[in-house]
Amino acid sequence: MQAVKATHTSPELEVRRLLHGMGYRFRLHRRNLPGCPDIVFPSRKAVIQVHGCFWHQHTGCRHGHVPKSRQNYWGPKLARNVERDRENERRLEEMGWRALVVWECALIDRERVAREAADFLGPPRAFYYIPSS
Ligand SMILES: [Zn+2]
Repeated sequence: MQAVKATHTSPELEVRRLLHGMGYRFRLHRRNLPGCPDIVFPSRKAVIQVHGCFWHQHTGCRHGHVPKSRQNYWGPKLARNVERDRENERRLEEMGWRALVVWECALIDRERVAREAADFLGPPRAFYYIPSS
């Protein structure tokens, strides 16, 4: 179960670079918050989670299906991940935090991810910049 959430996955790094380039500053992997969120904005009481479509079962995404082989293994395992995500999100909300999920597959359109993040976070302190990819 240790490997379920790799700490520095490359999609996460990509999102971090994007946000940093937009002028946002953040903390990483706060263990004092439910689910140890990937990217944390303490002053905004907001977190951004970068979710792999397979491990977190992205609904309606072609990467989010349960493998046909060994369904008895994958089915419950992946269902537990989804359950845990919901539980963490609910607990964060109870603590007055907001959460945004960036799905791995969304990173093919980085400008859109940038816009969504800006809508969610509000303007960065420094300057506003959407990288053209
Ligand atoms: Zn997806």
